[in-house]
Amino acid sequence: MAKYLPCLVCNQSDYVKRKGRVRDNPDLDILECLGCGLVTLSSFEHIQQGFYENSGMHGDDRPSIENWKQETAWDDQRRFQQFASLFADKKLLDFGCGNGGFLERAREHATEIAGIELEKRVQDFYSNEIKIYAGMDVVPGKYDVITAFHVIEHLADPVSILSMLSALLKPSGKLIVEVPSANDALLTLYESEAFQKFTYWSQHLYLFTPDTLKKIGEMAGLKVEKVEQYQRYPLSNHLHWLSMGAPGGHKKWSHIDTPDLQQAYADSLSAMGKCDTLIAHLQLKE
Ligand SMILES: [Zn+2]
Repeated sequence: MAKYLPCLVCNQSDYVKRKGRVRDNPDLDILECLGCGLVTLSSFEHIQQGFYENSGMHGDDRPSIENWKQETAWDDQRRFQQFASLFADKKLLDFGCGNGGFLERAREHATEIAGIELEKRVQDFYSNEIKIYAGMDVVPGKYDVITAFHVIEHLADPVSILSMLSALLKPSGKLIVEVPSANDALLTLYESEAFQKFTYWSQHLYLFTPDTLKKIGEMAGLKVEKVEQYQRYPLSNHLHWLSMGAPGGHKKWSHIDTPDLQQAYADSLSAMGKCDTLIAHLQLKE
């Protein structure tokens, strides 16, 4: 077995290669740690300085910020509804705020909002409207709630980043971290070959399990209140992957997804630990 870097979480170096392909970099292997289950890539050498700053995340056909906001509106609205009670009349900071769609929704609800985003055009886009910082080191003050939606899986050293973020939390504050799950049913239950060749991405350096996400929080010196299973994509999306081998079923076949069915399917996946998303609730230690 080729020698890889020791696992970020458990420090051992034995991995099994996962089936599938990194969609934008087929030279990379997808590794699952035999010690703890963390999923990572065989090398991080492809990571480029300035990639996110210059909108590299979007590939060659970069959408306008308005079009990008339309793409993420369903997640932004869901996150607003899911977490609004946490930041009502409080100070909110969104780390890796992307196009700012979540912050725009939260603006009327929180006493103060701010974002951190490397992508330069986002900082310019909101220059007079929403304070968007280019990094953690320039954020003044502390926040009641800090959110990080689908960010830390992009970072080579998520432990240090969470530790730095915790320095921006008020003593009773809360840090919400949402990441894609390594145990997504399409990967570990249905083993959809098409999905295995689509979902892995050179910019996702890690995929977490509930245990490894909890460990990352603890390694950052935080108290882990809970790690929740959450299903973003409905049954129509999964059926479409399994029958057509392609994404987009949740748009094409949305008539399948009644609210009751959606909830029941999510509950069933959650009971198996096979939702597509994990949400950690972290706090400072007392
Ligand atoms: Zn490990």
